[in-house]
Formats: sequence, structure tokens, C-alpha cells
Amino acid sequence: MSRIVDEPYFTYSAYNALTSGIQVKCPKCHGAGMVTADDDNAYFRCLSCGHQETRDRTIYRYDVHNQCKNCGRYYRVDIEDEEKQHFSVLHVACPYCGTTMSGEVHKTAEAFSYTAEIQDGREPYFGLELWFLTSFQGKPAWALNREHLAYLIDYLSADLREKPLGRAKKTQADHLPAFMKTAKNRERIVKLLKKLQEG
Ligand SMILES: [Zn+2]
Ligand SMILES: [Zn+2]
Repeated sequence: MSRIVDEPYFTYSAYNALTSGIQVKCPKCHGAGMVTADDDNAYFRCLSCGHQETRDRTIYRYDVHNQCKNCGRYYRVDIEDEEKQHFSVLHVACPYCGTTMSGEVHKTAEAFSYTAEIQDGREPYFGLELWFLTSFQGKPAWALNREHLAYLIDYLSADLREKPLGRAKKTQADHLPAFMKTAKNRERIVKLLKKLQEG
């Protein structure tokens, strides 16, 4: 009988980009590439064609502040429209009296972006498709990298699954969609994942 002790909740998640990396398809050559990240930036590098991309992970706030020429009050208007954020000067309406004036757009670093989870088989940093991606009855089944793929295969093929010791209430298995954990699907999903492992 095979048994497996499950991994803690955050062992395999989009945060993997900060540690072991996420394997994805290159948007240029469709070869294998890696997404990694540090606190400031996310990086993509293709292992086949060498294509590279870097994305700033900082979130900026854009606003215009003015003293209204009509009512004399000071105000700040946030610019949320991404297309408008590229301008250095914009016309904005005074929130008190509605008088429109032009003002300089100020850009302030606000925070590091919160990392979203994998969605529809794509990573959240560049929106690239995962390398280890297959589908089961129309639903995406995926792994972030080779290590994660091996974990999934071990986990789903074990006869006995145990929670890790310690205070963690949630474990890796909580990330798995129900269709992957259902006993009747497990064997077929393991087969699909093993095919990914060979490819
Ligand atoms: Zn490439
Ligand atoms: Zn005003």
C-alpha cells in the first residue's frame, strides 16, 4: 500500500515563481520557458529561443491634484483608466463644483502586486500558458513545474493520503479541484499527467 503525506498549502502555487519557477510555453516559439519573480519584477526566459520579458510588479497610483479655480478648494482625483495614466497632463473635474481644469498626473509607487492564482491554465505574471497542461473532461489539469507534476502523480496514485503534521489546516490537496480528487477519475488523471511527464 502506498501512502503519501501531503505538502503544506503554499508549497505549490503561483508563488512558486519566486522559488523554483513556473514552466510555461514561450509566446514566440512555443518551446519551454520559465517564469520567475523577485519582489520587484517578474521574468520570463525561453529555454529554446532565448526570448526574454521582464515585468514590473509594482502597482502605481496615478492622480491629479489641483486647487480649483472656481471654488478654491484643493482636491485629488485618482486616475484609474489605464489609457489615461500615460498622459502627463489631464483635464479633470473638481469633485466639489464640477469645474474642469488641467493638472499634472502624479505617479506614486503604492505596493507590490498581489499574486493571483493560476487561471484557465495560465500563470498570473504574464498570462502565459503552462507547459504541463492537459484537460480532463473539458477541465484544465496542470502542474507548475516538474516537481509539482511528480507531487500530483504521487498524491493521486497513493492509496492513503495523510495531512502533514503541524498547525496547517489547509494542505496542497485543498488546491486541487474536486474532479481531480474524485476516486473514479483519479486513475485516468494520473495517466494523463504521466503522459505530460514523458513529453
Ligand atoms: Zn522561445
Ligand atoms: Zn471646485
